[in-house]
Parts: sequence; C-alpha cells; structure tokens
Amino acid sequence: MKQRERTLFGHCILWGVLMLGMGCATLEQEGLLTRLNLLSTSEEVQLGERFAAEVEKQETVHPDEALQAYVREVGARLARVAPRQDVRYSFTVIDAPDTVNAFALPGGHTYYYTGLMKLCENEAELAAVMAHEIGHVAARHHGEMMTRQLGMELVSDIILGERPGTAATVVSQLFSTGIAARFSRAQEREADQLGMDMLYRAGYRPEAMITFMQKLLEYDRQRGGGRALPIFATHPAPEERVQLLQSLLQRYPPETRQQQELGTERYQSQVLQKLR
Ligand SMILES: [Zn+2]
Repeated sequence: MKQRERTLFGHCILWGVLMLGMGCATLEQEGLLTRLNLLSTSEEVQLGERFAAEVEKQETVHPDEALQAYVREVGARLARVAPRQDVRYSFTVIDAPDTVNAFALPGGHTYYYTGLMKLCENEAELAAVMAHEIGHVAARHHGEMMTRQLGMELVSDIILGERPGTAATVVSQLFSTGIAARFSRAQEREADQLGMDMLYRAGYRPEAMITFMQKLLEYDRQRGGGRALPIFATHPAPEERVQLLQSLLQRYPPETRQQQELGTERYQSQVLQKLR
C-alpha cells in the first residue's frame, strides 16, 4: 500500500516535470531533438555528467577509499571486456545500508548501494550486478529510455544545462529510487546477456548472475514479496530473468565455468566485514 502511494506520488512529480518540459519546445530545438532521439556519445556523456553531479549531491558517497578502490577494480576488470569502449565507465559505492539498488547513468557512471552489496556473497555476484549495469551503457539503452520517459525537449534542456532543478528531479525519480525508470523488457534481456558475457570473459563464474538474482528474490519474499525493492521496479519479473539466465548459461562449457573465479574470501574480508 505504502509502496503504491509512493509510486503514484513519483509519477505525479514526473508528470509535472513533463508538463514543464512541453512548454518550451521551439523549432530550433526540435532540430536538435530529432538528433537527440539517438544520443551521440558526447551528448550522452554530458547528460551523464549532469546526473552524476546530482546523484552525488543527493546520496552519500561511501567515505571508505579502500572500499571504493576495491569496487573500481572489479569494475575495471569488467569494463576491459565491455563491447563499448568509447566511454569511460566509473563505479561508485553509495552508503545506504537499507537500500538494495544499483543503477547506471548515460555515459558510464554506475552506482552500487551498500544495501545491495551486503546481499552479495562473493565478488562474482557483485560483478554480475555491475556487468548488467555496464550492459545498459554498452548497448546505448539510455538514449531511447530517457527520450521515451521524459520527451526529447526535456532531455536536450538537461544536456544544455538549462534545467538544473529538473536534472535533480530526474535523478531522484528515474535513477535513485527507480520508481519511474523503465528500460524495456528487450533492453533488460540484452543487459543480462551482455552482462553474463562480460562476467564470463572477465574470468568470473557466470552462475553468479543467477545466484544473486535468487538472493534478491529471497530477500523480497522475506519482506512479503511485494516487489518493493527499487531494483525490481526497473526490471521484468525476476523469476522470468532467472529462467532466461539459466538458458544463457548453457552457452558456456561447464568444465570452463567451474574454473572461473567467485572471489568469496576476498569479498568477505574486503567488503562484508566493513558493511556489517
Ligand atoms: Zn537493468
């Protein structure tokens, strides 16, 4: 019930933002906007920079530099095998022990909440989440999602820096809470597929993507199964994803998979001990 109210509230704010954006489309802007429907890399990066500044204002970046460095290192290992190399990926831990969430911004900034990191049992499971987020960036999903959700006018205004207040609202509505962000089902599948491939090529056990999804499901069930987790708000049914991931896993030979890394001890000592 509470979640429903919050969702409704979120949509109202988003509609308000949309209405604001509609007032100011000019022909000149429309020329720019058509092009923005598929954001160029530099536009995407610019948009991401605006949002990243807002995220880091609204959320608490975890102060432990060793923890940040650990996560950056895992991210770099995945980014090296990412199919898109024209953006610089970044990986930042948000100190929010009760929030199970992670998200990517256009252009490559990605964020991981400590509430989600606590649910991971090993490095490979965290890497699985990270690889999925990199997958959205690598497949250039944000341009389509953002113009569909916000309209091109608004996206272009944010890129041009004309609406700092709107960038803040979009961050809190679309990304941090995941209330209104909707990648399409096909995009989620693609992010899972690319993610599992990066996970495997970076030397991690691809099964970790499945075991982590099962942990999310279990966590949600223990809380009444209401799908209240922000991370579920942006994804298709997790049961469906588990099925898809099981079929993707078959592409990798079992004997090779067994030899890949989980990084359990490293994760316990360098992450979990700090977060508990
Ligand atoms: Zn996703």
